[in-house]
This record gives sequence, structure tokens and C-alpha cells, in this order.
Amino acid sequence: MDLVVLGTGAAYPGPGQASSGYMVRDGRTGLLMDCGNGVVSRLQDAGEMDNLTALVFSHIHADHLLDIFPLFYSRAYVKGERPPRLPLYLPPGEADRFARIAEALRVEPRKLFEEAFDVAEYDPDAGLRIDNLWLSFARNEHPIPTFAIKVEGGGGSMVYSSDTGPSQPLVELARGCNLALCEATLEEADYNPDKPIHLTPRLAAELAKQAGVHRLLLTHLWPFYDRQQMLAEATRVFPSSELAEELKRYPIP
Ligand SMILES: [Zn+2]
Ligand SMILES: [Zn+2]
Repeated sequence: MDLVVLGTGAAYPGPGQASSGYMVRDGRTGLLMDCGNGVVSRLQDAGEMDNLTALVFSHIHADHLLDIFPLFYSRAYVKGERPPRLPLYLPPGEADRFARIAEALRVEPRKLFEEAFDVAEYDPDAGLRIDNLWLSFARNEHPIPTFAIKVEGGGGSMVYSSDTGPSQPLVELARGCNLALCEATLEEADYNPDKPIHLTPRLAAELAKQAGVHRLLLTHLWPFYDRQQMLAEATRVFPSSELAEELKRYPIP
């Protein structure tokens, strides 16, 4: 399987950047994890727009969610035949809130659900099968229900941290994975241990080291930090660290 990085931004994207969006490709399967602002454009840049087969949300903060509406328009207003409804998986308990967000934006939830998406909530304890991929979850340290996602398939494994502070369940979930795509939102000086809802590059690297992953990609990056410094903070702890690059494909394993 391949990971296609679509958006590496934090709460707002920098110039030429998109917010959170990551696609896993395995044969005919195209699993999109999160759909932040800019991701629909990026899907087209990557040539992957027609390869989507399912969508899963780690949480419904705006920077991980907002392009679901342009994605809806792309599937509702088409020349010719409308594509089949896309399976869309939300964290447990969030489907009603998602419908209310749509309503507030004057997108009729009925249209959203009947014309574009087949919406369900996942059970993080049970896991989720999507074609040949197996997804498992860990509950994160974040202010709203948020889940890290492990994807296994094609003889490889990866974990996507989503947004989180330091989390032992995430370390366990990531254990032995080929690749960890991990948030590194904050510079060390801006990290507040009394409010641990995001990671620093050092914390992401420590997580990767503890979990014994093979490769670490740092993501969820603000435009105002020095990226090379962020990378250096991670490589000091875990040498196989890289900054995630948009539109790059990462083979797994
Ligand atoms: Zn975020
Ligand atoms: Zn968040």
C-alpha cells in the first residue's frame, strides 16, 4: 500500500499548503483519512479524486473536516451519472453534530446523506474493515473525541496520530508499524505540559522510538515555525524522521 500525503497544515494552511488529509491506496481501495481545507484541490493535484472508496474522520475539528462540503458538491453536482455514495465514517457520537454543521452551512443533511455519503459511526473498540485494509483506533489526548488510526494491509502497517498530546495508547497502537505519520504541532517553547493536547517534534520522535516504528513523518505543521529546526529536534531523538511532503507517495512497507 501507499500513503499519499495531501495536506500537512495545522489549524490553517500556509501558502501552497492544505490542512489535514491523507490517503491510503491499496489496489482499487482509496481510503481518505480526514478532509481539511484544501484537500479536495490536492486530491485532484494527486490524480486521486476518482479513486476514493471510503472516508474516515479522526475527529471533527474544522481543520480536519471542512473540505467535506466541497467534496459533497463534487459528488452531487456532476456531469452525467452521479458516483455511488461514499462510505463516510465518523467518530462515535458525532453523526448528529456533523448533520448540524451541515445544516448551519445550509447544506441539507438529507442531500448530504442520500446523494453523496453513506454515513456511519465507527466503533473504536471493534475496529473497521475497508476492503483489504484493517483499521484500528486509539483514543487521543485532545479536547474533543479524537482517534489515532492504524491501517494494516498489503503486508504493511502505518499509524496516523491525528491531533493528540502524549498518549500511551497511541504508542501501543503504533508499536512495530512501518510508518508513523505523527503530528508535531508545537515548538518546544510553546508546549504547555499542563495542557497536553498536541505534540512537539521531540515528543513525536520519542513516541516513534518507544513504539519501534521504522520511519516517522512529521505533520500538522504551522507556517510560522522554522521547519528545519522542527526536523532537527526530531532527528536528534529518532534519526529516521522526515517532514511529511504534500503530494508525495510513501510506499508501505
Ligand atoms: Zn488539527
Ligand atoms: Zn484537533
